[in-house]
Amino acid sequence: MFADIFIENNFQKIDKLYTYIVKDDVKPGMRVLVNFGNSYRVGIVLSLHANYSEKYLDKLKEIHSVLDDEPIISRDLIELGLWMKDRYLIGYSKAFSPILPPGNLQKIKKKIIVEKYPHGKDLEKLNSIDINKYFEDLSETEKKFIKKLRAKGFIKYIYDSLVMVKPKLVNYLKVSENFAPKNLEGISEKQAQVFNFVKEKKDISRVDVMASLGISYSPIKTLIKKDLICEYKKEIKREPVEKNFATQKISLNEEQQKAIKSIIETDKVVSLLHGLTGSGKTEVYLNLASKVIEKGGEVIVLVPEIGLTPQMIDRFKGRFGDKVAVIHSKLSQGERYDEYRKVLNGEVNIVVGVRSAVFVPFKSLKMIIIDESHDSSYEFHDNLKYDTIEVAINRMKHRGKVVLGSATPSIETYFYAKKNFYNLCELKNRAKKGAYLPETKVVDMRDELIMGNISIFSRELKKAMEEKLKKKEQIILFLNRRGFSNFISCRSCGEVIKCDDCDISMTYHKTKNRLICHYCGSTKPLPKVCPSCGSKFIKQFGVGTQKVEEEVKKLFPEARVLRMDRDTTTKKDSFDKFYEIVKNRKADVIIGTQMVSKGFDFENVTLVGIVAADMSLYVSDYKAKERTFQLITQVSGRAGRASKKGEVIIQTYSPDSEIIKYSATGDYVDFYDYEIEERKLFLYPPYTKLIEIEFSSYDEKLTQIWAERFLHQMSTDIKNVELMVTKFIKMPKIKNINRTKFSIKVKPKNLVLLIDGLKRVINNSKIEEDNKVFLNIDFR
Ligand code: ADP
Ligand code: ZN
Ligand code: ZN
Repeated sequence: MFADIFIENNFQKIDKLYTYIVKDDVKPGMRVLVNFGNSYRVGIVLSLHANYSEKYLDKLKEIHSVLDDEPIISRDLIELGLWMKDRYLIGYSKAFSPILPPGNLQKIKKKIIVEKYPHGKDLEKLNSIDINKYFEDLSETEKKFIKKLRAKGFIKYIYDSLVMVKPKLVNYLKVSENFAPKNLEGISEKQAQVFNFVKEKKDISRVDVMASLGISYSPIKTLIKKDLICEYKKEIKREPVEKNFATQKISLNEEQQKAIKSIIETDKVVSLLHGLTGSGKTEVYLNLASKVIEKGGEVIVLVPEIGLTPQMIDRFKGRFGDKVAVIHSKLSQGERYDEYRKVLNGEVNIVVGVRSAVFVPFKSLKMIIIDESHDSSYEFHDNLKYDTIEVAINRMKHRGKVVLGSATPSIETYFYAKKNFYNLCELKNRAKKGAYLPETKVVDMRDELIMGNISIFSRELKKAMEEKLKKKEQIILFLNRRGFSNFISCRSCGEVIKCDDCDISMTYHKTKNRLICHYCGSTKPLPKVCPSCGSKFIKQFGVGTQKVEEEVKKLFPEARVLRMDRDTTTKKDSFDKFYEIVKNRKADVIIGTQMVSKGFDFENVTLVGIVAADMSLYVSDYKAKERTFQLITQVSGRAGRASKKGEVIIQTYSPDSEIIKYSATGDYVDFYDYEIEERKLFLYPPYTKLIEIEFSSYDEKLTQIWAERFLHQMSTDIKNVELMVTKFIKMPKIKNINRTKFSIKVKPKNLVLLIDGLKRVINNSKIEEDNKVFLNIDFR
């Protein structure tokens, strides 16, 4: 038998599988120790096979030892990892890192192994060193000495993967099993008190005994010595959520019932639950989850990365209690490890978490629910190289179902639902009685300029804020800064400079003083006056949350202002803290970025002001319009959640833009019908798949040479696929790194052929063997 083994490392050059001869019992998914080059390494067996080419047989080594009794990754997750590697053209390390259990293979240290002992002074010196330590933990002189012995062949290293996180064990006390009553005679009063306390409580931690009785360790120690009580270790799970949850039983309305029936009965893998904000989608998830676990299945519920909605956790914990584990980026290592082990040990059957939770090792996983499925945190990212929805669908194929929930589904998702690839369910009304959609007004900021108002707030918004503050109702001021790019716009007429070919706004590059299209690479000089109206007020667009905060404080000194953005919410818990502040009405004006657009359900918020709606509209990305529509609709949905009527004010320089119009009415289908035509016209997804190939290095010339060589290799290696390839786009230098990229569009049905072709190009061009230039492939 032979085993193909994955050894974690960060070098693309050696990121491949290595074959070893199997001697002991080993299964795929187990960790093994193998001889690797001049040392030992921990690897994971990915597959076993009976045949191996005779030619290289004598070069193979045996596996040194098997480290696990049970696989640490299941077969279906191994398959998923291999699929990701293929689909996203990434290495084994990138593909498997999100799948590996937390706390394993996280850090690799060198353990010292003495192969043979030296003589004389060297032996004496060696004996004075504690070789049970890791090499890294030795002093500098000790390290030098060990290195010398290693060069001479006396010492070898084993690369030991450290389990960084361990179960949390706490000292507990109980009455000793060999407890003899006669030992009770002659103990002090205090010791007797401790003994009786432990006996009464049966099972209590040492710290709790000491704290309850206000005593030191010494009487306990005496009792242990006399064998009256004994101490033992007990695992305590680190709980990331510590709240009391109210369970609220709701009888579902007709729409909700219909949706649930349809999702349960459909033979399609994917269902899209398209429902207004507040239409009761979460209630549908809860119900679906309960149906799945009734039958012994397991459920993953994914929520967006930023501002992980505490409500979702509250509601699932409220309904299912201890059967829910929680996984998100603000957990400590220990908490994450414990939550993961609850899943592994079958202690829970529901996980609520962010994108990485799509990989949790449930054994009878039957449903993955993705809430706010349009959210960009699920998408393919520079560092997280997989598309969460795609991975979920792949994991559930032939096994279960995927439910995508959104008020504003992505254009692609809705397209597939309309094409009947997905099962489409709709919730068209707000679930709570008496809660209506807010009233929305669009304010033309160009008029404000004409009227001499140069403040970032229009007269209309100012007035509305004044009224709400008087009534002690809360206000959200929303600013979409994410992905904010340097587009140029005219403050008099609202014109934005766009690329003539791509219909995407161009980005201003300061160093070159030119506008560049990030899609096709065309450039234009910076205009001195607006090409549309001739105004001189043409400049970069933008305003920050701090500026908004200052202005609010100036206008309404009495108002309690809370600013929520990436800068103020980095610390663990701070999102929850903000959430509590708003909930308890301790803030009047909440200023925030996308964080406030999701999941906020506060009945006292009655005004939402979108300070600069255009900010996300002209980001140079084909999804800019979609994102703007989504953000405005989502954040508008925060107003008027309950009986108090909500109001939304959208400030814009482009009131005639279709997107702003549809955002104001909140009509998703109108927006979709408009946007899908644009996608078709300019050949963007879903009509094509878009791939960016980027080259980077410190050497400008080399970057360009490789980019050209790669493109040339493409013309020889990818012949049977029709491709649309852009010009080279030179990106601005960041930290001295030169980057050049180009984009490829391909018909969706040809994506597989293109990926295969790109694999050949990577192999044949040998780019991965060049240590100076890095290749990065992004799927947009
Ligand atoms: P969504 O997830 O679509 O935003 P939620 O499930 O959070 O919607 O529901 C919005 C509000 O309506 C919540 O306060 C919820 O408790 C309430 N709700 C949901 N379903 C019903 C129902 N069938 N009857 C009454 N209230 C409901
Ligand atoms: Zn103009
Ligand atoms: Zn262009």
